Amino acid sequence: MKVFISADIEGVAGCTHWDEVRMGNIDYPMLRQQMTNEIKAACEGINEAFGDDTEILVKDSHATGRNVIIANLPQNVRLVRGWTSDPNSMIGGIDDTYDAVAFIGYHSGASRNGNPLSHTMNTQINYIKINGTIATEYTLHAYAAAEMGIPVVFLSGDKMLCEDAKLINPTLETVAVLEGLGDSTISLNPSYACSLIKEKIKVGLSKMEKCTIKLPEKFELEINYKKHQLARRASFYPGVELVNDTTVKYTAKTARDMMVTNFFILY
Ligand SMILES: [Zn+2]
Repeated sequence: MKVFISADIEGVAGCTHWDEVRMGNIDYPMLRQQMTNEIKAACEGINEAFGDDTEILVKDSHATGRNVIIANLPQNVRLVRGWTSDPNSMIGGIDDTYDAVAFIGYHSGASRNGNPLSHTMNTQINYIKINGTIATEYTLHAYAAAEMGIPVVFLSGDKMLCEDAKLINPTLETVAVLEGLGDSTISLNPSYACSLIKEKIKVGLSKMEKCTIKLPEKFELEINYKKHQLARRASFYPGVELVNDTTVKYTAKTARDMMVTNFFILY
């Protein structure tokens, strides 16, 4: 059995401000520890479900990709640190041999008010839509994993993301560890959040055959940048068109093609 985990930080219990998620800041060690604790809880749930000879690969997908404290994770866990320089991005290191994928610490997409730190891929983007609906980092990577035939079994993060995620994956098991309210968050107790993650990922794994995401026939992307210069630059990528000063669109036939285009135009 092989399970892949992609982990971010803006959707872990207590996370509220950019200062807390940037390396070098005084609050950062606390959030880095909580990110690690939530991943650890997920790994413990996986080991209870399938045994501790399960292969677990974790991708550290926040900022530098060097946040997770690997020494705190069970022995059967390997960690992708840094970035793999390929279109898989936040699921870098994955391949079609994995039996299930889980997302930990994920957050609402750019323009959504479910998290004070809402964004999608970087902070230069006002929104990304896929087939007319606001997309999230979860949407992009869940589609990419689904196209490899891997069931998406579990997600933890903010409440709005957990609700949005069910639009493409109604059977997904989720834990909302916090909720955004304006520039604040209302969070669960961090230890309690970990116990919920440990229990609920087991529920997700027990129904993994029902967790396959139906892929759309095509992916029509609309990307609105904060700066007109970024839209202009993106519009030179083959297939990408400028819609107005700050917006581009393109259509991809597969999730892979979408990830490749995004790899070059989201910066
Ligand atoms: Zn993120």
